[in-house]
Amino acid sequence: MRSVLIAGNWKMNGNMQSVIELVEGIKAGDPGKAKLAVCPPAVYLMKVGGMLDDSGIALGSQNVCDHESGAYTGEISAAMLKECGCRYAIVGHSERRSHYLESDQLVAARFAMAIAVGLTPILCVGETLLEREQGVTEAVVARQLDAVIELSGIGGIAGSVIAYEPVWAIGTGKVASPEQAQAVHAFIRGKLAAVDSEIAKRVQILYGGSMNPSNAAELLSQADIDGGLIGGASLKADDFLAIARSVQE
Ligand code: PEP
Repeated sequence: MRSVLIAGNWKMNGNMQSVIELVEGIKAGDPGKAKLAVCPPAVYLMKVGGMLDDSGIALGSQNVCDHESGAYTGEISAAMLKECGCRYAIVGHSERRSHYLESDQLVAARFAMAIAVGLTPILCVGETLLEREQGVTEAVVARQLDAVIELSGIGGIAGSVIAYEPVWAIGTGKVASPEQAQAVHAFIRGKLAAVDSEIAKRVQILYGGSMNPSNAAELLSQADIDGGLIGGASLKADDFLAIARSVQE
Protein backbone atom coordinates (compact mmCIF):
# COMPACT_ATOMS: atom_id res chain seq x y z
CA MET A 1 0.00 0.00 0.00
CA ARG A 2 2.81 2.42 0.87
CA SER A 3 5.41 3.02 -1.83
CA VAL A 4 9.08 2.81 -0.96
CA LEU A 5 11.25 5.92 -1.04
CA ILE A 6 15.03 5.86 -1.13
CA ALA A 7 16.31 9.39 -0.51
CA GLY A 8 19.94 10.45 -0.66
CA ASN A 9 21.19 13.12 1.72
CA TRP A 10 24.42 14.33 0.15
CA LYS A 11 25.19 16.68 3.07
CA MET A 12 28.07 19.11 2.36
CA ASN A 13 29.91 16.85 -0.07
CA GLY A 14 31.06 17.12 -3.64
CA ASN A 15 31.68 19.84 -6.17
CA MET A 16 30.00 20.79 -9.44
CA GLN A 17 31.82 18.08 -11.38
CA SER A 18 31.21 15.25 -8.92
CA VAL A 19 27.58 16.26 -8.47
CA ILE A 20 27.02 16.12 -12.24
CA GLU A 21 28.67 12.69 -12.41
CA LEU A 22 26.62 11.41 -9.49
CA VAL A 23 23.33 12.53 -11.05
CA GLU A 24 24.30 11.03 -14.39
CA GLY A 25 25.21 7.75 -12.70
CA ILE A 26 21.92 7.58 -10.80
CA LYS A 27 19.88 8.45 -13.88
CA ALA A 28 21.62 5.77 -15.93
CA GLY A 29 20.96 2.98 -13.42
CA ASP A 30 18.04 0.80 -12.42
CA PRO A 31 16.30 1.69 -9.12
CA GLY A 32 14.01 -1.34 -9.23
CA LYS A 33 10.66 -0.72 -7.57
CA ALA A 34 11.74 2.13 -5.32
CA LYS A 35 11.09 5.80 -5.87
CA LEU A 36 14.22 7.93 -5.61
CA ALA A 37 14.95 11.39 -4.27
CA VAL A 38 18.23 13.25 -3.92
CA CYS A 39 19.01 16.14 -1.58
CA PRO A 40 22.12 17.96 -2.82
CA PRO A 41 23.76 20.96 -1.18
CA ALA A 42 21.56 24.02 -1.79
CA VAL A 43 23.91 25.66 -4.29
CA TYR A 44 23.50 22.70 -6.63
CA LEU A 45 19.70 22.42 -6.42
CA MET A 46 19.02 24.29 -9.67
CA LYS A 47 21.65 22.37 -11.58
CA VAL A 48 20.54 18.98 -10.27
CA GLY A 49 16.85 19.88 -10.69
CA GLY A 50 17.49 20.67 -14.35
CA MET A 51 19.29 17.38 -14.85
CA LEU A 52 16.45 15.43 -13.19
CA ASP A 53 13.71 16.82 -15.42
CA ASP A 54 11.54 13.92 -16.66
CA SER A 55 13.69 11.37 -14.81
CA GLY A 56 11.09 10.54 -12.16
CA ILE A 57 13.75 11.21 -9.50
CA ALA A 58 12.62 13.83 -7.00
CA LEU A 59 14.67 16.74 -5.69
CA GLY A 60 14.90 17.69 -2.03
CA SER A 61 16.63 20.28 0.10
CA GLN A 62 18.58 19.56 3.28
CA ASN A 63 16.81 22.22 5.30
CA VAL A 64 14.28 25.06 5.02
CA CYS A 65 13.95 28.39 6.81
CA ASP A 66 11.37 28.77 9.55
CA HIS A 67 10.37 32.22 8.23
CA GLU A 68 8.59 33.15 5.04
CA SER A 69 10.99 35.86 3.84
CA GLY A 70 13.01 38.84 5.06
CA ALA A 71 16.18 39.55 7.01
CA TYR A 72 17.41 35.99 7.64
CA THR A 73 20.89 36.05 6.17
CA GLY A 74 22.06 32.70 4.90
CA GLU A 75 18.66 31.06 5.03
CA ILE A 76 16.55 29.72 2.16
CA SER A 77 12.78 29.99 2.20
CA ALA A 78 10.33 27.20 1.44
CA ALA A 79 8.96 29.17 -1.52
CA MET A 80 12.47 29.50 -2.98
CA LEU A 81 13.05 25.77 -2.63
CA LYS A 82 9.75 25.07 -4.30
CA GLU A 83 10.70 27.43 -7.13
CA CYS A 84 13.98 25.52 -7.57
CA GLY A 85 11.97 22.37 -8.21
CA CYS A 86 12.16 20.73 -4.80
CA ARG A 87 9.51 18.25 -3.82
CA TYR A 88 11.03 17.36 -0.45
CA ALA A 89 12.78 19.25 2.35
CA ILE A 90 14.69 17.44 5.08
CA VAL A 91 13.96 19.00 8.48
CA GLY A 92 15.35 18.21 11.89
CA HIS A 93 18.34 16.18 10.75
CA SER A 94 20.34 15.25 13.83
CA GLU A 95 23.37 17.14 12.48
CA ARG A 96 21.21 20.29 12.42
CA ARG A 97 19.84 19.54 15.88
CA SER A 98 23.30 18.94 17.38
CA HIS A 99 25.72 21.23 15.46
CA TYR A 100 23.30 24.14 14.98
CA LEU A 101 21.26 23.64 18.13
CA GLU A 102 17.94 23.34 16.37
CA SER A 103 15.29 22.78 19.01
CA ASP A 104 12.14 20.68 18.56
CA GLN A 105 10.19 23.94 18.26
CA LEU A 106 12.48 25.35 15.56
CA VAL A 107 12.27 22.08 13.64
CA ALA A 108 8.48 22.23 13.95
CA ALA A 109 8.47 25.78 12.56
CA ARG A 110 10.63 24.70 9.60
CA PHE A 111 8.29 21.76 9.03
CA ALA A 112 5.27 24.10 9.02
CA MET A 113 6.90 26.39 6.45
CA ALA A 114 7.56 23.45 4.14
CA ILE A 115 3.96 22.27 4.43
CA ALA A 116 2.65 25.79 3.80
CA VAL A 117 4.15 25.89 0.28
CA GLY A 118 3.40 22.29 -0.64
CA LEU A 119 6.84 20.81 -0.01
CA THR A 120 6.90 17.40 1.62
CA PRO A 121 9.04 17.61 4.75
CA ILE A 122 11.20 14.60 5.57
CA LEU A 123 11.09 14.91 9.35
CA CYS A 124 14.09 13.29 11.04
CA VAL A 125 13.66 11.94 14.55
CA GLY A 126 15.88 9.73 16.64
CA GLU A 127 17.70 9.22 19.88
CA THR A 128 21.37 9.55 20.83
CA LEU A 129 23.34 6.58 22.15
CA LEU A 130 23.04 7.90 25.70
CA GLU A 131 19.29 8.23 25.33
CA ARG A 132 19.03 4.65 24.02
CA GLU A 133 21.13 3.40 26.92
CA GLN A 134 18.92 5.31 29.33
CA GLY A 135 15.87 3.60 27.85
CA VAL A 136 14.23 6.83 26.69
CA THR A 137 14.23 6.22 22.92
CA GLU A 138 10.45 6.25 22.66
CA ALA A 139 10.10 9.31 24.87
CA VAL A 140 12.61 11.25 22.74
CA VAL A 141 10.97 10.29 19.45
CA ALA A 142 7.53 11.08 20.89
CA ARG A 143 8.70 14.50 22.06
CA GLN A 144 10.16 15.30 18.63
CA LEU A 145 6.93 14.23 16.91
CA ASP A 146 4.70 16.03 19.40
CA ALA A 147 6.38 19.37 18.71
CA VAL A 148 5.45 19.02 15.05
CA ILE A 149 1.94 17.74 15.70
CA GLU A 150 1.32 20.63 18.09
CA LEU A 151 2.11 23.18 15.39
CA SER A 152 0.96 21.47 12.18
CA GLY A 153 -1.56 18.95 13.48
CA ILE A 154 -1.88 15.36 12.33
CA GLY A 155 -2.85 16.82 8.94
CA GLY A 156 0.69 18.16 8.67
CA ILE A 157 2.09 14.71 9.36
CA ALA A 158 -0.17 13.37 6.60
CA GLY A 159 1.71 15.56 4.14
CA SER A 160 5.13 14.48 5.32
CA VAL A 161 7.60 11.62 5.37
CA ILE A 162 9.14 10.62 8.69
CA ALA A 163 12.72 9.36 8.93
CA TYR A 164 13.74 7.43 12.03
CA GLU A 165 17.45 8.04 12.32
CA PRO A 166 19.11 6.82 15.50
CA VAL A 167 21.89 9.37 16.01
CA TRP A 168 24.34 6.63 17.03
CA ALA A 169 23.90 4.97 13.63
CA ILE A 170 24.45 8.03 11.44
CA GLY A 171 27.76 8.02 9.65
CA THR A 172 29.19 5.57 12.20
CA GLY A 173 28.86 2.27 10.33
CA LYS A 174 26.81 1.02 13.32
CA VAL A 175 23.48 0.17 11.80
CA ALA A 176 20.41 -0.48 13.94
CA SER A 177 19.38 -4.12 13.76
CA PRO A 178 16.23 -4.71 11.70
CA GLU A 179 14.43 -5.56 14.98
CA GLN A 180 15.60 -2.38 16.72
CA ALA A 181 14.56 -0.24 13.76
CA GLN A 182 11.22 -2.00 13.27
CA ALA A 183 10.38 -1.57 16.96
CA VAL A 184 10.78 2.21 16.78
CA HIS A 185 8.99 2.43 13.42
CA ALA A 186 6.08 0.48 14.90
CA PHE A 187 6.09 2.79 17.91
CA ILE A 188 5.93 5.85 15.62
CA ARG A 189 3.09 4.39 13.56
CA GLY A 190 1.24 3.37 16.70
CA LYS A 191 1.60 6.84 18.15
CA LEU A 192 0.18 8.38 14.98
CA ALA A 193 -2.59 5.76 14.86
CA ALA A 194 -3.73 6.83 18.30
CA VAL A 195 -4.62 10.18 16.69
CA ASP A 196 -5.65 9.08 13.19
CA SER A 197 -5.39 5.48 12.06
CA GLU A 198 -5.83 6.24 8.34
CA ILE A 199 -3.00 8.75 8.32
CA ALA A 200 -0.82 6.37 10.31
CA LYS A 201 -1.38 3.66 7.71
CA ARG A 202 -0.46 5.96 4.85
CA VAL A 203 2.56 7.87 6.16
CA GLN A 204 5.95 6.68 4.91
CA ILE A 205 8.50 6.04 7.65
CA LEU A 206 12.08 5.75 6.40
CA TYR A 207 15.04 4.33 8.28
CA GLY A 208 18.34 6.22 8.21
CA GLY A 209 21.70 5.35 9.71
CA SER A 210 24.55 3.54 7.94
CA MET A 211 22.23 1.83 5.47
CA ASN A 212 24.25 0.25 2.67
CA PRO A 213 23.79 -2.36 -0.07
CA SER A 214 24.58 -5.25 2.29
CA ASN A 215 22.19 -4.39 5.12
CA ALA A 216 19.39 -2.68 3.15
CA ALA A 217 17.32 -5.71 2.13
CA GLU A 218 16.72 -6.90 5.68
CA LEU A 219 15.92 -3.44 6.98
CA LEU A 220 13.61 -2.70 4.07
CA SER A 221 11.73 -5.98 4.52
CA GLN A 222 10.44 -4.90 7.94
CA ALA A 223 6.72 -4.23 8.07
CA ASP A 224 6.93 -0.58 9.06
CA ILE A 225 10.07 0.46 7.17
CA ASP A 226 9.04 2.20 3.96
CA GLY A 227 12.40 3.21 2.60
CA GLY A 228 15.66 4.79 3.59
CA LEU A 229 17.33 8.13 4.09
CA ILE A 230 20.87 7.42 2.97
CA GLY A 231 23.93 9.53 3.74
CA GLY A 232 27.36 8.12 2.89
CA ALA A 233 26.14 5.39 0.54
CA SER A 234 24.13 7.89 -1.50
CA LEU A 235 27.35 9.49 -2.75
CA LYS A 236 28.09 6.48 -4.94
CA ALA A 237 25.52 5.95 -7.67
CA ASP A 238 26.04 2.19 -7.71
CA ASP A 239 25.55 1.82 -3.96
CA PHE A 240 22.53 4.11 -3.91
CA LEU A 241 20.90 2.16 -6.73
CA ALA A 242 21.82 -1.18 -5.16
CA ILE A 243 20.03 -0.10 -1.97
CA ALA A 244 17.00 0.88 -4.05
CA ARG A 245 17.01 -2.46 -5.86
CA SER A 246 17.05 -4.38 -2.61
CA VAL A 247 13.41 -3.41 -2.09
CA GLN A 248 11.33 -6.54 -2.54
CA GLU A 249 7.61 -6.43 -3.17
C1 PEP B 1 21.95 10.65 7.24
O1 PEP B 1 22.78 11.52 7.42
O2 PEP B 1 20.76 10.94 7.13
C2 PEP B 1 22.43 9.27 7.22
C3 PEP B 1 21.56 8.31 7.32
O3 PEP B 1 23.79 9.10 7.06
P1 PEP B 1 24.57 7.69 6.88
O4 PEP B 1 23.79 6.88 5.90
O5 PEP B 1 25.91 8.08 6.35
O6 PEP B 1 24.63 7.07 8.22
